[in-house]
Amino acid sequence: MDKIALLERRVEREKKARKQAEKILEEKAIELFHVNQELKNISEKKINQIQSKFENSQKRYQNVLSNLNLGLLEQDQEGYITKVNKVFCEMVDYTSEELVGNISSNILLPDDLTASDNKKLIDRNLEESKIYDIKVMRKDGTLIDLIVCGAPFYDDYGNMVGTLDVHYDVTKEKKLQQELKEAKEIAERAQQAEKQFLTNMSHEIKTPLNVIVGMSHLLNDTKLDAQQHEYLDILKSSADILFNLISEVLDFAKIDAGKISVVNEEFDIVQELNNIHKIFKIKLENKPVSLQTKIDEKIQHCVVGDKKLFNQVIVNLLGNASKFTEEGSIICTATIVHESETHIEINFKVKDSGIGIAEDKLETIFQNFEQANESISKNYGGTGLGLAICQSIVEAQNSTIKVQSAEGLGSTFQFNLVFEKSERKITEQDVFVEDSSVNLVAGSTILYVEDNPLNSLYLSRLLDKWNLRYEHAENGLIATEKIAHTKYDLILMDIQMPVMNGYQATKVIRTTENPNQKTPIAALTASTLGNNLDKAKDFGFSDFLAKPFQPPELKKLLLKYLKHDIADDSPETATVQNPKVKIQLDENQLKQVFGDDEEYKKEIITMFLETIDEQMSVLDNLIKTGIHDDIRKQAHKLKPNFSMVGFPELTDDFVILEKLAKSNDTIENIITHYSLITDKVDQLKPQLKSHI
Ligand code: ADP
Repeated sequence: MDKIALLERRVEREKKARKQAEKILEEKAIELFHVNQELKNISEKKINQIQSKFENSQKRYQNVLSNLNLGLLEQDQEGYITKVNKVFCEMVDYTSEELVGNISSNILLPDDLTASDNKKLIDRNLEESKIYDIKVMRKDGTLIDLIVCGAPFYDDYGNMVGTLDVHYDVTKEKKLQQELKEAKEIAERAQQAEKQFLTNMSHEIKTPLNVIVGMSHLLNDTKLDAQQHEYLDILKSSADILFNLISEVLDFAKIDAGKISVVNEEFDIVQELNNIHKIFKIKLENKPVSLQTKIDEKIQHCVVGDKKLFNQVIVNLLGNASKFTEEGSIICTATIVHESETHIEINFKVKDSGIGIAEDKLETIFQNFEQANESISKNYGGTGLGLAICQSIVEAQNSTIKVQSAEGLGSTFQFNLVFEKSERKITEQDVFVEDSSVNLVAGSTILYVEDNPLNSLYLSRLLDKWNLRYEHAENGLIATEKIAHTKYDLILMDIQMPVMNGYQATKVIRTTENPNQKTPIAALTASTLGNNLDKAKDFGFSDFLAKPFQPPELKKLLLKYLKHDIADDSPETATVQNPKVKIQLDENQLKQVFGDDEEYKKEIITMFLETIDEQMSVLDNLIKTGIHDDIRKQAHKLKPNFSMVGFPELTDDFVILEKLAKSNDTIENIITHYSLITDKVDQLKPQLKSHI
């Protein structure tokens, strides 16, 4: 019984549990139904939304297509047109009825399709989307240019059944493109002709210029006096500049194409400006126009830049300034704008007081072949290319030329250039001092006492350059031997030397019996004397020059102690520097020779003055070479001339020179005597000049 009761209770429990489970299931089913219902609602809404979106975008797409003016054409696999839109009909000027049902290529493509057009069509049929341009024939037979985007379309089974082509009319653009191409070709042809003209013209100029350069080299090898040499140098450097300029014009094509190559090299910008200054000074000789070149004294270093291009610009600007200035002034300046350890920016300015430029022409003058007005080329010549080239050159160096000008009031052209600084210092800083006419007069003899071969070479080069006569002693002892025989005008004395140093040698010179007891002695000192002149004087020196020195510093010292052109008139310097032997024009002698024939006297003296420098330089060279017989012959040839022009004393001197040479006397003695002669010759020239 207990067992039955237990089973019944168990059945009862299970029934209860089943009922509970059924209830839960029922609840879950309802829940599921609701969820399902909700999901269904959502997707229906979504589908509606998507559908309306699709319709909207289709509408928008239609709008866009018609606004974009795109012509649509559908065709089947055989090429029969199945559908066209309004825009397409308008493009080709057919109605839709006239098109649909026809084979598109028959009605729309010209008979003489080009090979490339054919290929485009074949490619299009290869079931790929393609964009290509093609010529299509309108109803009236005219051709239009269309860009076509063709895409295949398929049936429900994925088979290609035709294509849809979208067309855009580019006839106007194509026409414009063609016109542009033609205009470009015309412009290029004109430019080519212009370049050809320039090339021919430059070539024509270059040929005779070559001859000028060649001839000036040949001339250089002939006997010339110092002045002729100077003129020839200027001629050569002018020809070189012109040659470069023409080469650049010849290369105008390069400049035109903006392909100027800037070749950097180390150069002395001060020296360049100096050379250019000299050339223009000569050019302006016959015009009442003063030329000044002012260079910032703070420019101490050579620069790294394109020397040729720099030259070209400055020469061009100065050339214009000289051309367009009839009277007044031209000032060329170089001023530091900014300087760092490594770089220097310099402003270059060329200012003139010439005809000036009208305000409305200030921009055009920088264009090729542009001049301020038509009368310019008639009155002043020129091509109108110069400034265009200059501007291109300066632009190639990341700068630009600016101009300020007013008609009748002159013009100022300027530009800045940035250069890398080089280690090397500039030379000849003093070249532009306005009294650059101060020249050392040949005839003085200098003794320089220096043991270092390099310093010695430096000194001798400078003295050669200034046409000064000098002797060299390698130490103090040799110097003391030399001073015993020869009278010098100046002694340059190194301090530190082997065998006998500068102090000792100077003491000997000042305290022993010799012709140089009073000769100025300048100490060449690295540091010992510092900058103290009083201290230098205590040791018997007259002056000092701190080493290392620049050429202008030495020149300044030499100008202080030796004769130079402008010092000739100065009584103060004359007493200090004139040689002991003064000579005077012998008027009686002149009277004896010429009587009252003033004309003849003038002619002979003029001829004498014109030839004497050359004759003396011949003698000078002979003495340097030391061939006694040649010296004798030249002395013999020259000696009578001096009596003729009223200086019989010099004829006597030449007789002695002749004798010294004939007796094979030492070259040192010959030089000593010769220096006496040159002193006197230098004195007689101004006297003769003023006499006639
Ligand atoms: P060109 O001098 O050969 O005519 P440029 O290009 O050098 O050619 O100069 C163009 C024009 O600019 C000149 O013809 C002249 O009208 C004007 N010009 C240039 N420099 C000056 C100047 N310094 N003063 C007056 N006019 C000038």
